[in-house]
Amino acid sequence: MKCLLSQSEASNTYLIERFDQVYLVDPSHNYEEIHQLLEGKKLMGILLTHGHIDHTILINRFNCPVYLHEDELELLFDDQINGSQMLGIKREFKKSTLDLRLIKDGTIIELVDRQIIVLHTPGHTRGSVCYKIGDDLITGDTLFKGSIGRTDFPGGSIRSMKESLKKIFATSNSLVKIYPGHDEISTIKEEMKHNEYYLKWVKLN
Ligand SMILES: [Zn+2]
Repeated sequence: MKCLLSQSEASNTYLIERFDQVYLVDPSHNYEEIHQLLEGKKLMGILLTHGHIDHTILINRFNCPVYLHEDELELLFDDQINGSQMLGIKREFKKSTLDLRLIKDGTIIELVDRQIIVLHTPGHTRGSVCYKIGDDLITGDTLFKGSIGRTDFPGGSIRSMKESLKKIFATSNSLVKIYPGHDEISTIKEEMKHNEYYLKWVKLN
């Protein structure tokens, strides 16, 4: 159901496919490769896990709605807090030309006969979300294999991160596969064994 596109670089891009319909998650690198993969398919939308520039670079290159949590709107267009200035990446999209769809916890996005469910998981940023499709969970920069996202950027909060981790583990069975915004994929089962943040913040509480 998903293709991992740019694992080695700054962030991961995913494709959620069902028959000829697709959603693109965090398009940021490998435009040509993505373009080829989309050939013959209907791009229904771009799903953003959050607004940091290393996850959003390519969002103006596709003609489709862009889904983003309502608490993340300000960050998306503020180059001081979206990482553009820090990473030296020029933001090429602007508000007036994007078809933005604001989402919140529990929003359901339809994909043919499947549903993509939005889980609001603040902590890395105020409007960070995870997307759940069956037993697959796209976790953005909230939960990584063996780690979690940084909480020291603007809008970050350790307290919110703890609550978000509890929410993820409370709503996911151990078979759920996680697809993070950086590095390798994992499973809830693996993270319950090895993720130190799960062990100290979720399990022991
Ligand atoms: Zn980030």
